[in-house]
Amino acid sequence: MRKKNLDTVIIGSGPGGYVAAIRAAQLGQHVTIIEKDNIGGTCLNTGCIPSKSLIAIAKKWADYKKHQQIFPNLDQSSKINMEEFQKLKNKNILKLQRGISHLLDNNRIEIISGEAMFLNNSSLSVTDGSGVSSTFSFNHCIIATGSEPRKLPEFPWGNKILSSSHVLNLQSLPEDIIILGGGYIGIELGCAYANLGVKVTIIEEQEDILLLADQDIRKVLKRQLMKKNIKLISNAIAMDYKEEEQKVKIKVQVKENTLQIEADYLIVSAGRIPRTYALGLDNTDIELSENGFIHVDPSLKTSVPSIFAIGDVVKGPALAHKASYEGKLAAEVISGNYYSVDYKAIPLVVFSDPEIALTGQTEGNENTLESMFQMGANGRALTLNQAEGFIKIFSDKATRHIKGAAIIAPNASEIITEVTVAIEAGWTVDDLALTIHPHPTISEAIMEAAELATGLPIHVPII
Ligand code: FAD
Repeated sequence: MRKKNLDTVIIGSGPGGYVAAIRAAQLGQHVTIIEKDNIGGTCLNTGCIPSKSLIAIAKKWADYKKHQQIFPNLDQSSKINMEEFQKLKNKNILKLQRGISHLLDNNRIEIISGEAMFLNNSSLSVTDGSGVSSTFSFNHCIIATGSEPRKLPEFPWGNKILSSSHVLNLQSLPEDIIILGGGYIGIELGCAYANLGVKVTIIEEQEDILLLADQDIRKVLKRQLMKKNIKLISNAIAMDYKEEEQKVKIKVQVKENTLQIEADYLIVSAGRIPRTYALGLDNTDIELSENGFIHVDPSLKTSVPSIFAIGDVVKGPALAHKASYEGKLAAEVISGNYYSVDYKAIPLVVFSDPEIALTGQTEGNENTLESMFQMGANGRALTLNQAEGFIKIFSDKATRHIKGAAIIAPNASEIITEVTVAIEAGWTVDDLALTIHPHPTISEAIMEAAELATGLPIHVPII
C-alpha cells in the first residue's frame, strides 16, 4: 500500500502539540495531529485543569471554615460532596476539550487517533485502538508526546497506591493520605486535601521540600503547611508497603530510624519522565540527552532537521505554558521564520496555599539587589485575611533593570505576569515603582518592592 504523505505532523495534542498545530495552520501548513488519547494532553485531562479545580474548591472550603465565627449560622457539619465535585470538574474538562476540538477543526487540522511510532527519519506508523496500523511519510514532524509520572518499582499503582493524576478522580474524601514527594505537584495536592480536612503526610527524600524555591519562601510555606496540620518528613525514604484492611501501611527510613505510617492512600508524586521510550526513536537519528529527554537546538530542531521536539519531552521546566511557547516557535521555524528560544523569564507557579510564583532570576548574587516587601503591610492581603508571605524583586545593581521575582502571596499566580512583562520589556525598578497600581490590590506589593529597590519606600519605615 502506498504511504500517505503528510505535510506537518504533530504527535500529541497537549498544550505543546495543539498550540503548535494551530500556529502552523495559521502560517499555511497542512497540519495533522496524531493523538492516542483525549485531546488536550496531560494538562487538560489529568494535570493542570483537574488539579486547579480541586485546589479552587478546597480553598473556598478552607476560607469558609476559617471564618466560622463570622458566619455562625452556616451549617458547620457539612462536608464536601466529592461526587458533585467530580461532575463539575469533568464538565469543565469536556467544555475545554470541545473548545480545542472546535479550534482544530476551524483551522482545518486533521486528527488521527492512534499511537505514533517512527519507522525512520521521514515516516511513521499509527496504530489505532483496534490494532490496525497505517503508515505515513511527512515533510516535518513535531514531537509533543509529553511526560508521565515516574513509577517507583516498590510502589506499583493499585487500589491504594495512586499517581498524582489518579488522586484527582476520587469519588469520596479520604480520611488521610501520604504523599511521596515534596515537589510542586505533591505540595499542591497536599494543600488541597488538607484544606478539605484530610490528614496529610508528605515524605521527602531530600533535606527539604520544594527545593526549586529559595529558603525564605520555603520557611513561609512550611509555617503555613504546619497550620494546616500537614506533617512533613524530610530526609526520608519510603521502603515498602502493606495493604491492611482499609489502610496502606508504609515503612519509612529516616536516617537510622524506621517509621510505620498508615493512611487510606499513598500518592506517588516522585517526578515525571519524558514519553520518549516507545516512540521508535531508535529507528531515527534523533539524539537523546540524559534521562530520556530529546536533544534540541535553540530553534527546537532535533538532530534530524525536519523533526522538532517541544514541551515535556525536552529539557527545562515541565510546564504547560513553556510547551505552548515552544509549540508556536517550532511552527514558525518550520514556516521558514528564524526564531530561537528565549527562556529568560519563564513564570513558574506553585498553586499551594498561599500561592508561590517565580520568574526570571530567583536567587541573588553580587550583581543583584534584592528588595523584599512583606504582605503584612499590604491592605488587600489583610482584607483577604491572608497577610502571610512577601514579594521579592531582583534587579541589576548597576543598571537597575528588573531581573526576576520570587513571590509567596495570595494571587501570586496572576501577579507574576507583571514582573515577567517588566523583564521582557527591559524595565527598571524605577519604571515599576512609577507605574500606577490600583488600590487595594496584591499587585501594589510589586510596586512597593520596586520602591524599596529605589531606596524610597512609602510603606516601609526607614531604620
Ligand atoms: P502533554 O500534555 O503530556 O501531552 C502529550 C500528548 O501526547 C498526550 O495527549 C498523549 O496522549 C500524547 N501521546 C503521547 N505519546 C503518543 C504517541 N506515541 N502517539 C500519539 N499520541 C501520543 N503545568 C503548568 O504549567 N501549570 C500547572 O498548574 C500544572 N499542573 C499540573 C498538575 C499535575 C497533577 C500534573 C501531572 C501536571 C501539571 N502541569 C502543570 C504540567 C503540565 O501538565 C505539562 O507540563 C504539560 O501538559 C506538557 O505539555 P505537552 O504538550 O508537552 O505534553
